[in-house]
Amino acid sequence: MTEHSDILIVGAGPVGMTLHLALAAGGQKSLLLDRRPPQAQQGDPRALALSHGARQLLEQINSWPMRAATPIETIHISQKAGFGRTLIDNKEYDLPALGYVVRYRDLAGALAANLAEDAVLSEADILDITPGDEHVTVTLRHAGQLRTIQTKLLVHAEGTPGDDPAVKVSDYAQHAVICEVTPTPGHGKRAWERFTPDGPLALLPLGNEFSIVFTLPPAKADAVMAMDDETFITALQQQFGHRMTFAKPGPRSRFPLFLRLRDTLVKGNEVWIGNTAQTLHPVSGQGFNLGIRDAWQLAEILLKNGVDRDPQGVPRWDSNLSTYAASRRLDRQGSAFFTDQIVRTFSNDFGPLKLARGLGLLALDICPPARHFVAKRMIWGARAWP
Ligand SMILES: Cc1cc2nc3c(=O)[nH]c(=O)nc-3n(C[C@H](O)[C@H](O)[C@H](O)COP(=O)(O)OP(=O)(O)OC[C@H]3O[C@@H](n4cnc5c(N)ncnc54)[C@H](O)[C@@H]3O)c2cc1C
Repeated sequence: MTEHSDILIVGAGPVGMTLHLALAAGGQKSLLLDRRPPQAQQGDPRALALSHGARQLLEQINSWPMRAATPIETIHISQKAGFGRTLIDNKEYDLPALGYVVRYRDLAGALAANLAEDAVLSEADILDITPGDEHVTVTLRHAGQLRTIQTKLLVHAEGTPGDDPAVKVSDYAQHAVICEVTPTPGHGKRAWERFTPDGPLALLPLGNEFSIVFTLPPAKADAVMAMDDETFITALQQQFGHRMTFAKPGPRSRFPLFLRLRDTLVKGNEVWIGNTAQTLHPVSGQGFNLGIRDAWQLAEILLKNGVDRDPQGVPRWDSNLSTYAASRRLDRQGSAFFTDQIVRTFSNDFGPLKLARGLGLLALDICPPARHFVAKRMIWGARAWP
């Protein structure tokens, strides 16, 4: 028997769940589908820096994990063994914080707590997707049964895509090693972004710890993953310097880093959002902040125009979805360009570039309009563009 749905969202990660809850808040039903069991997200080791803008969106769907969030009041940006630094301070923006650091699992938990019991088909394996003029037919296996769902709109929110000719891939030849460490003195709600020839090193305040994103070429990442705790702390200290000392490193995990950009966000009655639309380098923490804006924008457009046919019986998808794709162009391309350029400009030891970088950091520090431009872009995304 064929089942029917208006909107089927593949991937119940933070972006898929945000879309589902934003639609539900506007009275539109949707069904989430995930191939993993719900508790799998509780094993994700990532900590995410969320912008103030992301907090505001999550608050509107009652999913802001207040108690699990550590505010970032200042961000210190510098380069290893080079002059120039920039300090961004929340007081300049009349905001309680520039952003917040939250564990992936706490964010996912806060969103999942708002889902109705029948909102997600977990541990569902998609066997086939057949596009049609008026709906997409999805065949899947769930709880040992074969099911067929016809949906008017299929939203892809399944995270980082695998091989797909529609996705352009650029390898950064860097891996992120992540871990938590205890700093002395305390972090004082300051985040650090330190550029080194190996790649950026980020320290994000999280509870009493720092969540570290230590970016390295793959061979050095292999070595860092194999180190005992004491050697690891020495390596970290060498990259960061000695303004603070670190101790008690937690378990380490690693992520190979690529830029993956999907050429088109819309095809027929299918649309791609979040990491499956674009997967960025984690420098400056843009990925989920961009993904939540994808989900929000799509929900707004669908709620405004409805998911049905117009009075003449013509499906409204085309205009809805092309409006969506056009509305996301600047934000996604701007964020991808911004992170890509930072990684490529800063991850080297080339003398003249080092000098230019130092001057750039200095200029940002002493020139408030330039600093505000960068800070506002990180807080609000494309809305900050003039
Ligand atoms: C080291 C690191 C640090 C990061 N730091 C930050 C940061 O500071 N700030 C920030 O904003 N972002 C950060 N990011 C990026 C952020 O993690 C992602 O942008 C975010 O998790 C994307 O959410 P998503 O819901 O699109 O995808 P995911 O979180 O990957 O969720 C996708 C979901 O889809 C499911 N799924 C996958 N395939 C299928 C399928 N075929 N069928 C059904 N379900 C499927 C998965 O089980 C999963 O539940 C970081 C990333 C890394 C690697």
